[in-house]
Amino acid sequence: MGKIMDNMHNLLQKLPSVRGRYTERAELSKLTWFRVGGPAEILYKPEDLEDLSFFLKQKSKEIPIFTLGVGSNLLVRDGGIQGVVMRLSGFNNIVVQGNEIEVGAGVLDRTLALVAQDESLQNLEFLAGIPGTIGGALRMNAGCYGTEIKDILVSALAIDGQGKIHKLTAEDMGFSYRHCEIPHDWIFVGARFKAKSGSSKEITARIENLLAEREEAQPVKSRTGGSTFANPEGLKAWEIIDKAGCRGLKIGGAQVSEKHCNFLINTGDATAEDLEILGETVRRRVKETSGVDLRWEIVRIGSSKNYAVEARAA
Ligand SMILES: Cc1cc2nc3c(=O)[nH]c(=O)nc-3n(C[C@H](O)[C@H](O)[C@H](O)COP(=O)(O)OP(=O)(O)OC[C@H]3O[C@@H](n4cnc5c(N)ncnc54)[C@H](O)[C@@H]3O)c2cc1C
Repeated sequence: MGKIMDNMHNLLQKLPSVRGRYTERAELSKLTWFRVGGPAEILYKPEDLEDLSFFLKQKSKEIPIFTLGVGSNLLVRDGGIQGVVMRLSGFNNIVVQGNEIEVGAGVLDRTLALVAQDESLQNLEFLAGIPGTIGGALRMNAGCYGTEIKDILVSALAIDGQGKIHKLTAEDMGFSYRHCEIPHDWIFVGARFKAKSGSSKEITARIENLLAEREEAQPVKSRTGGSTFANPEGLKAWEIIDKAGCRGLKIGGAQVSEKHCNFLINTGDATAEDLEILGETVRRRVKETSGVDLRWEIVRIGSSKNYAVEARAA
């Protein structure tokens, strides 16, 4: 423990002096939807883009960084994350310019959908059902009900590991299903989206329907990470998971949702280890019954506490 504390102390001392805020041993379980996982060695909330750019230019290249949105697609392992975890909660500007809206990466998808609704701008309704931030939506090419980020993006603004800013078109982003090709150490700081003018009443109705449908079909009020696995080409992940007999399957405090079996749930006292082993168990059973290799859509990050997930999958 003494050694860990020394290392942390050293890391803080090695970081540039910024205007934003550093927190040591920040509890990430409080900042993620699953409510599991160990701490961030250092959590950094940049004050603004200039502060972030200064940090990236000054910090040693050896120090790893990870960008956190609101952790709605994230499984942080029980040993936590070494290095610096960034959180762009202060990047929350929203500017409407005609049929386009410019937003900071820390804005919630849902907030953007509601601003568009207020402005009678359509095509952003789908964002009302996605509980992440714009930064996470760009990284994941988030989408639902037939629309994805790639369909509405005019440009994204990202900053690379050296503090250089890049303006990226939808084509530059290399979008595919729940994925973009931008290097992992680049941080999205904002984006511009296009909409179309529409009827406020119809937009409101579409948002209400979408939210009602979600509540009916998905465990949206549970401690979950959303869809666990990407849908394989031409298949639905939940169908092959169901066929493999995994609906309701439990390991420790982790359970495959009874309501939607591509969702894993922390029933109360799950560890990240329980959730990851459960996911690996589902993958193995699906491979045995359908021959399909499911790909994790949930991002898993951090170090485990000496466990070998695959070896212990039930
Ligand atoms: C109940 C529920 C329902 C969901 N429904 C949907 C759905 O319908 N469609 C869908 O697509 N997703 C859905 N999700 C998953 C999730 O909301 C999305 O993937 C979302 O885009 C993640 O955003 P986040 O801010 O929470 O990112 P996080 O979970 O915090 O991070 C996810 C990834 O994005 C990266 N990231 C986050 N911010 C930035 C940034 N600023 N710059 C660079 N990288 C960044 C992280 O490093 C990580 O790799 C659902 C999740 C839940 C819990």
